[in-house]
Amino acid sequence: MLDKSGRIIDYLRVSLTDRCNLRCVYCMPEEGIEKKTHNDIIRFEELEKVIIAFAFLGIKKIRFTGGEPLILKGIDKLISYTSSIPTIKDISITTNGILLYDMAETLKKSGLNRVNISLDTLTKDKYKEITRGGDINKVFSSIEKCLQIGLAPVKINTVLMKGINDDEVEDFINLTKEIPIHVRFIELMPLGEGVKLYEQSSMKINEILDNNIELKYIKDKSNVASVYKIDGAQGTVGFISPMSCKFCSDCNRIRLTSTGTIKPCLHSEEEINLKPYINDENMLLKVIKNAIYNKPEEHHLETDKKSRTERMMYQIGG
Ligand code: SAM
Ligand code: SF4
Repeated sequence: MLDKSGRIIDYLRVSLTDRCNLRCVYCMPEEGIEKKTHNDIIRFEELEKVIIAFAFLGIKKIRFTGGEPLILKGIDKLISYTSSIPTIKDISITTNGILLYDMAETLKKSGLNRVNISLDTLTKDKYKEITRGGDINKVFSSIEKCLQIGLAPVKINTVLMKGINDDEVEDFINLTKEIPIHVRFIELMPLGEGVKLYEQSSMKINEILDNNIELKYIKDKSNVASVYKIDGAQGTVGFISPMSCKFCSDCNRIRLTSTGTIKPCLHSEEEINLKPYINDENMLLKVIKNAIYNKPEEHHLETDKKSRTERMMYQIGG
């Protein structure tokens, strides 16, 4: 369906939980996370009704995210349900990869098409520091497993942070020569915990591109990333630059939080609660349609220097 700016909105990102098994420094505070009650969180049976309504209104791609989506029991069944909807053509997850090794085959059989795995460093100790305790070997094993079973393309999300991982950019790029992975560098956003790091650690995508002569541009922005490749490489390198090169005019996304509210724009404070309408199909469709139609035209990060949303990244899903 079209929004009022004429953009086709066909991509739904669903945050299934705001809990996580890691505590990445730019995303979650170390302690003091408010635990949502079962009543606050949208249940999978309710979510299925919402997903079918979105599909009816033209959503064709769904991404499950979080918090960490793989900590939830029954995610395979939710994926199975979603893949049984004929108009849904693409189902993906964004995960930190810690639990993926053991789940990858089941998820693929359930209908999962592909994964984005978040990985901000290639070194064990730094990974432990950034994630406050994560074991990088589990992520490496998960990546290998996904490649082995064809849960592909495997995309690696890497948040760029000056003084933290900017010294590893070349190592990430070089990995794509030998391994068919698609590294996507993402600019740090001044949202939630990211606000605290932003001043000292934010860097622009151009700082990498200007320093790398091997990367050849292969296509224009497809859904937010500009994609490059080294001649003969197995994988690609993408750049997602919400700060230095905003992509609002091409945005095809709508978001659902784990408490059952629609967020028409990641960076706007506006939310629409679907919970009161979940058992009333007509109202549910009407409210979703209205939310899509009125999606904000753009974010204001470059002028505000801070997201307008009060939500944290782990509550929205990235
Ligand atoms: N737990 C899963 C994971 O880490 O992939 C899914 C949720 S996480 C919130 C989704 C993505 O948001 C991750 O790739 C993470 O790196 C990114 N992210 C979190 N906070 C961010 C920030 N302040 N700026 C840019 N990206 C951020
Ligand atoms: Fe958890 Fe993902 Fe946030 Fe890291 S980025 S704390 S893995 S939700």
